[in-house]
Amino acid sequence: MQSDVVICGGAVIGSAIAWNIGQLAPELSVTVIERDTSFQHSSTALSASSIRQQFSQPVNVAISLFGLAFIKAAKARWGVDLNLREQGYLNLANSESGAQILRENHAVQRALGADVALLSPEGLNARFPHLNVEDITLASLGLSGEGWFDSVGLMQGFQAHSKAKRLKDEVIGLRMQTGNVSAVKLLSGGEISCGAFINASGPRAAKIAEMAGIHLPVEPRKRTNFTFDCATPPEGTLPVMIDPSGVWARPEGRHFLCGCSPMDDPAVAFDDFEPRFREFEEVIWPALATRSPAFEAIKMQAMWAGQYAYNVLDQNAVTGAHPEISNFYFANGFSGHGLQQAPAIGRGVAELVALGGYKTLDLSPLGYERILRNEPLRERCVI
Ligand SMILES: Cc1cc2nc3c(=O)[nH]c(=O)nc-3n(C[C@H](O)[C@H](O)[C@H](O)COP(=O)(O)OP(=O)(O)OC[C@H]3O[C@@H](n4cnc5c(N)ncnc54)[C@H](O)[C@@H]3O)c2cc1C
Repeated sequence: MQSDVVICGGAVIGSAIAWNIGQLAPELSVTVIERDTSFQHSSTALSASSIRQQFSQPVNVAISLFGLAFIKAAKARWGVDLNLREQGYLNLANSESGAQILRENHAVQRALGADVALLSPEGLNARFPHLNVEDITLASLGLSGEGWFDSVGLMQGFQAHSKAKRLKDEVIGLRMQTGNVSAVKLLSGGEISCGAFINASGPRAAKIAEMAGIHLPVEPRKRTNFTFDCATPPEGTLPVMIDPSGVWARPEGRHFLCGCSPMDDPAVAFDDFEPRFREFEEVIWPALATRSPAFEAIKMQAMWAGQYAYNVLDQNAVTGAHPEISNFYFANGFSGHGLQQAPAIGRGVAELVALGGYKTLDLSPLGYERILRNEPLRERCVI
């Protein structure tokens, strides 16, 4: 079997790339290989599905603005409402150094047109009177363009409108010839010869890169999400609140969704999806109850764990071609913000493959070269 392009991984990132290649170069044959077509353990299906422009790196702000416009246009484009709830992100700082970071990030965000405002403790209190602002030095709030949306809907939109061939199989090896990927070996026993290979395998990205002899510092790291019921919910429209403790919470229907920076954060096995219940009891509930009396009486409803494809170097995406294995493309390491990045990454990687360079957004700061140079692209606003 032969295909111009083979994509390993068919969740949101692989599907976004396949759809975009179809838009730009319909003459190219594209095959997407997915080992688990239920997607039950994919990061995409287990995501908190939120979008923000509150990043420190300009490339991440630009990527999310692109993603926002794409999500908003889904209804006109595909007839699918991705149910974007534009309720904002609220970042809280409780120290002068934290406030300074918010100010610097805010300048980056505003320069790129993001609708983010800084709030004093008094301004915060006026908007969200239920919050305890005693220790707060500064807050930043997305006034529009931030919130949450339907993650699986976005993935299915890409899938339903793409002519790419989709195969249920597993990539188990790569055949290399004259320094490039010449074929993809499948668990079923077959091989697909290809002109370009794209790694979109989520938390397993390092394993796939290793098949081409490439070191990729991406590990599966566990994140547990919880939903809870609140006896007397705070009034008004609530954003995604990021507490200085690292605990976050947002509305989810008539419940709330929450999580935290993990207490300890080792790489886990690819099949480890055991939720860490202790995080709710020991970290999340105490922090939320301190932040708002409304969150004192809450009852956990459900919990699940997903895996970040965690870029150990700088928690940012790795995209683009390998500098030497020039037909091996990365779309990896998204850590906690890959869902909102799927539209822009899909576009960018498709432009590289189909047109030979980035045309819409310059994603070169996210290139693999920084890994080789050991020069992190530090994102100061990670969750
Ligand atoms: C708990 C949690 C909360 C998150 N919250 C947010 C958020 O609020 N906002 C945000 O933007 N992002 C968030 N993220 C991150 C986001 O979900 C991911 O970055 C994004 O979904 C990555 O998509 P992906 O397609 O790269 O990976 P995945 O969705 O994991 O898909 C990779 C696919 O590759 C397949 N695959 C792997 N190896 C092979 C192989 N050898 N052969 C064939 N197929 C293979 C897998 O089966 C899988 O379906 C969160 C993630 C988690 C876990």
